[in-house]
Amino acid sequence: MQNHDFDLFVIGAGSGGVRASRMAATFGARVAIAESYRAGGTCVIRGCVPKKLLVYAAHFHEDFEDARGFGWSVPPATFSWPELIAAKDREIDRLEGIYERLLSNAGVTMIRGRARLADAHTVEVDGKRYTARHILIATGGWPVRPDIPGAEFAITSNEAFELKQLPKRVLMVGGGYIAVEFAGIFHGLGAQVTLCYRGAELLRGFDDDVRRHLRGEIEGKGLRVLLKHEITAIERSGEALRVQCADGKVIDCDAVMFATGRSPNTRDIGLESVGVALDASGAVQVDDFSRSSVENIYAVGDVTNRIQLTPVAIREGSAVANTLFNNRPTAVNHQNVPSAVFSQPPIGTVGLTQAQALAQYGSVEVYQSSFKPLKHTLSGRNEKTYMKLLVEPSSQKVIGVHMVGADAPEIIQGIGIAVVAGLTKAQFDDTVGIHPSAAEEFVTMREKTLVKV
Ligand code: NDP
Repeated sequence: MQNHDFDLFVIGAGSGGVRASRMAATFGARVAIAESYRAGGTCVIRGCVPKKLLVYAAHFHEDFEDARGFGWSVPPATFSWPELIAAKDREIDRLEGIYERLLSNAGVTMIRGRARLADAHTVEVDGKRYTARHILIATGGWPVRPDIPGAEFAITSNEAFELKQLPKRVLMVGGGYIAVEFAGIFHGLGAQVTLCYRGAELLRGFDDDVRRHLRGEIEGKGLRVLLKHEITAIERSGEALRVQCADGKVIDCDAVMFATGRSPNTRDIGLESVGVALDASGAVQVDDFSRSSVENIYAVGDVTNRIQLTPVAIREGSAVANTLFNNRPTAVNHQNVPSAVFSQPPIGTVGLTQAQALAQYGSVEVYQSSFKPLKHTLSGRNEKTYMKLLVEPSSQKVIGVHMVGADAPEIIQGIGIAVVAGLTKAQFDDTVGIHPSAAEEFVTMREKTLVKV
């Protein structure tokens, strides 16, 4: 066998790349990881983690209001965006340091700079060449900007984390995870927000009742939602921006944010030249073991565009390390991956939507509940929680669970275990509820509707 500098060269120190390199090193492999920006990748530096911090910040707005119903007198609260961003930056710096230490403690060689494949076993970083037996592409994704005049005036989630000031009026474009999350953040922090989505209902791919419920809730909070709307141009108008819509509407605002999807980072890293096959979206095509069309080149995480979620990338990275260096070929199961949207209120979901269940099984038993949470009996807030349980009629297995409401992500994480384990409705019912909680509804739902195609 040829003598290479490394057993594994990882390109990209995000969630998937870091996990794969650390585990591979633990299994005894000689590992290098190249990163052109900051260790931690999108999730830690400008994604999940800072986003969740901003979601907490935004929610205080309602907490102060709700406190009044419980006897508190809350003086008018003031908010400083620069202080929030500075605090967030300190935390991200700390986390980045932890990531770097984790890598070095595991014996992984960190190489700063942009990496490019010279051939299937050689990576070049800033003019220096390294050879490796295996290469792992973990370069993540990048926000897409629609190609319209003035697109350069808009921000994406990347810039949203760095804004010097909170914009007074924000136009959010898109209807996916990032759009509803950031719409909630800006609204909660005091901006006037318009959410503009080209489709008929937000959050395509989620359960239809969840989508409707969430929109009702965010509209109830004062967010303006424009459905079936497309923007066609953005122009400067003094200090502000003027946005043209396809229907002739004009929207004046201080910031336009594109949350219009993320595309895989596969450009200019030499993939095509070594024969790595990409799909139509530019993602690296991989098999169940994350192996690309080139035998020794693997890819994990957003760059493969399977499921763009950090815990999935981590699973994939760990599976690659096991496959290559631990004698345990491991395929990642992409079924029943729980996920959450940190909207306000948040969504938690695992398993099939009602539409998917009907398509797969022809019929489904639906249990659902919509109620005012106990907290809001005193706060007076007009917010409802929605819960839905889907059961496959013949096996009685719970095949989908969905929730919109406070703590939904925390609750669905636990419920996800039951769904992955394939538990039945009767087993849910056997579980005693925790009272008073919202979660207890999931073990006390009794009224079913049989829905058929
Ligand atoms: P999504 O794919 O979730 O949503 C993209 C949205 O933009 C869709 O509503 C899409 O519309 C719309 N869109 C796409 N292209 C255009 C266009 N040219 N003009 C107007 N609208 C357009 O992507 P996000 O950017 O929200 O997030 C990327 C991914 O990151 C998510 O899919 C998710 O996997 C992950 N993520 C996860 C989070 C979490 O776990 N909480 C949080 C944030 C991101 P249409 O529906 O019609 O295609």
